[in-house]
Amino acid sequence: MQYIKLARLYEELEATAKKLEKRDILAVFYKQAPENDLAIVTMMSMGIVAADIDLGIASQMMIRVAAKTYGIPEKEIVQKLKETGDLGLAAEYFAKNRKQQAFFKKELSIDNVFENIRKLPELSGSGSQDKKISLIAELLSHAQPLEARYIVRTTLGDMRIGVAHGIVRDAIALAFNKEPKEVENSWNVTGDFGKVAEMAKNGKLKADIILGNPVRVMLADRSPDLKEALEEFEHAAIEFKLDGLRMQIHKDCEKIRLFSRRLDELTSQFPEIVKWCRECIKAKQCIVEGEVIAVDSKGNPLPFQHLSRRIQRKYDIERMTKEIPIQINLFDLIYLDGKSWMQKPLKERWQRLNEIIKQSKTFMFVNHIETKDCSKAEKFYTQALAAGEEGVIVKNLDAQYQPGKRVGYWLKVKPIMEPLDLVIIGGTWGEGKRANWLGSLLLAARNRDNFAATGMLGSGLTEEQMKDLTEKLRPLITEEHDREVKIKPRIVIEVAYEEIQRSPKYSSGFALRFPRLLRIREDEKKPEDADTIKTMEKLFKNQRGRKK
Ligand code: AMP
Repeated sequence: MQYIKLARLYEELEATAKKLEKRDILAVFYKQAPENDLAIVTMMSMGIVAADIDLGIASQMMIRVAAKTYGIPEKEIVQKLKETGDLGLAAEYFAKNRKQQAFFKKELSIDNVFENIRKLPELSGSGSQDKKISLIAELLSHAQPLEARYIVRTTLGDMRIGVAHGIVRDAIALAFNKEPKEVENSWNVTGDFGKVAEMAKNGKLKADIILGNPVRVMLADRSPDLKEALEEFEHAAIEFKLDGLRMQIHKDCEKIRLFSRRLDELTSQFPEIVKWCRECIKAKQCIVEGEVIAVDSKGNPLPFQHLSRRIQRKYDIERMTKEIPIQINLFDLIYLDGKSWMQKPLKERWQRLNEIIKQSKTFMFVNHIETKDCSKAEKFYTQALAAGEEGVIVKNLDAQYQPGKRVGYWLKVKPIMEPLDLVIIGGTWGEGKRANWLGSLLLAARNRDNFAATGMLGSGLTEEQMKDLTEKLRPLITEEHDREVKIKPRIVIEVAYEEIQRSPKYSSGFALRFPRLLRIREDEKKPEDADTIKTMEKLFKNQRGRKK
């Protein structure tokens, strides 16, 4: 199929804000799509090339690509971006007005676009930036103006067509005469709307688990308090909540495949887990889930940052398995010897899991107790924190495994850290509609008479807060480089967060995990009253009972 057809679809979707209209437009498109293209078309109608994939392309790189393709200085692209608030529209403008039209312009097919974009996240290491640039530039050089708009937006992950999962689900149902619930169930176990659309079209829509196809994982809600969480369920289990990587293991005899919470395959990054599965799982076929954590030489848990080096690593894997040892803590069973176990209550799943696993020091069960007794639960929670874990998850023992959802059957309980008062010392202008506001802020703690950066605060700011803060900060800007600004340390804000992490990126050596603005303290606090690096050091050492 020609890519221009998809670009016109995007344009049509963008033109209406009504969900039902979007659903109808998509349903017609899916119905008419040739069988061979249906899977790709369905994924790309959401503006993505694979479920939950991060393409890793920033606006700055896209500006370079556009400048290269259209043979104009980057400054001009930036200027157009400021005017239109959208790099897609900027590219469309330059494609319309380009001086030299490409000599052999070929017509783009959806496969051309799909393949080039699909390659982007796979590139890493030296020279990968240039390779990425040339893959996108190749597409743009052949693109008609409307196509350029959407190639840029797809690559940036910012489609602006307002198509969420629910609309795609309903459109597939409408196109092929199915119930939305049937489509949803099938999506839950395949995690892939492309496959679901194909099955719906050829009358083979199924919600059976297929070994090797990752199932969308069950998620936890937050509970403010352990007692409250316990009261929710008639029968409760409490488990340590480990700060690691969710892993779904698919075992089909000797074939082992590992998937992340986002359904990305991680088999090659964790060869030791593959080996342990062969040694420790007694069942022939199963899907089990657990949390992988990095551990020190004594087997004590290490913060997530250590593990993230393992996830990103694509080469020298054997060396990494020695440098950053890991452990997996299992907590669920969702498939066993040809049958789904998702509908069975957790109590049974946990018991059966215990029967099919031979535990070792590295392949083990998560700490788990079954109780409604508050004092026992509190003791367990304290133990979890003392062991350096994030908190606990309280689970309903009578509940089934609900893929892809937060339905309140699992409740996480974590300590809330005392907020910090920090000073704003820098920021970054937003993008698109937010180009005139500071979208993220660089925070700092006091370090004697100076300030040391402690990370960025970005997501979570409301438009109101962004506007308000920008007006206060604008007169304090001392330097500006592209979108980055330096700001005189004057304004103190109170910030909540989940954890203090060590970070070489900022001068304090620390960064905050999930920081959120609680309030602006300009009337109450001066920069001299802000919290100090010493305080952060102390909080860091004591958090989660960890004595460093
Ligand atoms: P959150 O990411 O804060 O929503 O918490 C849910 C995540 O906690 C899951 O996706 C798992 O990766 C992780 N987790 C850690 N320990 C457990 C456990 N015992 N049971 C389920 N999930 C756990």
